[in-house]
Amino acid sequence: MLKTRLGSYLGKRLILPDQPDFDEVRTVWNQMIDRRPAAIAQCQTAEEVSRCVIEAKSEGLAVSVRGGGHNIAGTAVGEGALMIDMSLMRDVVVDLDNRLVTVQGGATWAEVDAATQAHGLAAAGGVVSSTGVAGLTLGGGFGWLARQHGLAVDNLLEVEMVLASGEIVSVSDETLPDLFWAIRGGSGNFGVATRFTFRLHPVGPEVLFGPTFFALNDAGTVLRNYADRAPRLSRRACVWANLMTAPPAPVLDESVHGTMVLTLMQFHLDPVAGIDDLTALYGGVEPLGSALMQRPFVEAQSFLDEAYDFGARNYWRAHNHRELTPDLIDYLVKEARNLPTPESELLICQLGGAISDIEDAQTAFPHRQILFVSTPGVRWRDPADDERVVGWLKQVSREISRHAVPGAYVNFIAESGGGASAAYGSNLARLQAVKKKYDPDNLFRVNQNVEPAEAG
Ligand code: FAD
Repeated sequence: MLKTRLGSYLGKRLILPDQPDFDEVRTVWNQMIDRRPAAIAQCQTAEEVSRCVIEAKSEGLAVSVRGGGHNIAGTAVGEGALMIDMSLMRDVVVDLDNRLVTVQGGATWAEVDAATQAHGLAAAGGVVSSTGVAGLTLGGGFGWLARQHGLAVDNLLEVEMVLASGEIVSVSDETLPDLFWAIRGGSGNFGVATRFTFRLHPVGPEVLFGPTFFALNDAGTVLRNYADRAPRLSRRACVWANLMTAPPAPVLDESVHGTMVLTLMQFHLDPVAGIDDLTALYGGVEPLGSALMQRPFVEAQSFLDEAYDFGARNYWRAHNHRELTPDLIDYLVKEARNLPTPESELLICQLGGAISDIEDAQTAFPHRQILFVSTPGVRWRDPADDERVVGWLKQVSREISRHAVPGAYVNFIAESGGGASAAYGSNLARLQAVKKKYDPDNLFRVNQNVEPAEAG
């Protein structure tokens, strides 16, 4: 019996449904997710993870893994599964001689940024520091540094992983190249990552970062200019555009607070000289206000944390774009007036640069030539609003998809299953063959699942 055996092995770190902290520990970032695992194992070592995997397998239970718990589809937690909670494994060790960082599988980017920036270095991660390193990385991972330094997986050198067999292996280009290819974009399908080693880059500590706000009436002009210039922007810069409700920011007149605006969230590695690259995106339009300024990189990395904190209900869609057409821009600006809640948004993330230097088949992440990812998102608090806000979002997403190219970033897919072909695209068949080799019984299936299949 799993509960008895693991209970005596892990003691209080095996949490069962009748225990008082069960509800708290099974909770993830998206409040829409309400799944009850069979048990939650809070592991402290790779050996403990291995034992949990072996026990789950012998009981016929699926295994889910909680890294930072941020996945919108809630794939950290599966109904009736054994949930391996990595939150007690979050050590970060910087190797200054080799400019590397080694990160345990339950750490968040906040911990990585703090440890690396103490030495003026940084790893290429995401834009919200409470996001888990593991989930973000295994799906690809892009943030402010990606146009200069590539995806998180492009900076990954080695992963310590517990396979479905329970074996603890080192996964790298030298040791297991087929598996190393698969885990760079294939998400949590192949095992439990207990340790990651990333290449570091000199960054900051000061960078140019912050939001610049524009009136909705000017949004079409600014977005057209952004669509044209952003793909040619210096790789040292990255700018995301967001149609959203104006926050009560001190740089905005009070009359603007709570109204609909376009925000350019701008990042540049050159804290002084970068200003010209960024203001060129405005197309001559006078902003309503701007908090773009020289700041520490760690401040930029956590600037958005509060806006996207735990505790709200969320639903997103993700669309791939090679270009932002005038028709799409007109549609987005029109729909911005209909956002169903004040926390909802029509967000456009910028990719390209170093991400696109690599062929789609070189790692499992297949969206290399995509220059923008649009993520219309709704965020609300009251379950009574579910149908209304999700219904609105789905209808907007249907329209956006007419202006998009196929595919969706695995880490932005809001449904917990059925996203494999959109997520893995041209790399799906190869991923299935790797899955067949390393997880033939599909133990790791609480994710955008790659079903095991023979090659060809
Ligand atoms: P979890 O929910 O814990 O896990 C997600 C998936 O990864 C699950 O399937 C799980 O099985 C698997 N997994 C987690 N840990 C492990 C492990 N140790 N070993 C094996 N599998 C594991 N993405 C970006 O690329 N860039 C961004 O800037 C960005 N910003 C975001 C901001 C917010 C507010 C949110 C909610 C998400 C953001 N994302 C971003 C998406 C993010 O990459 C995904 O939500 C990702 O899944 C989060 O990883 P996690 O470890 O926090 O999630």
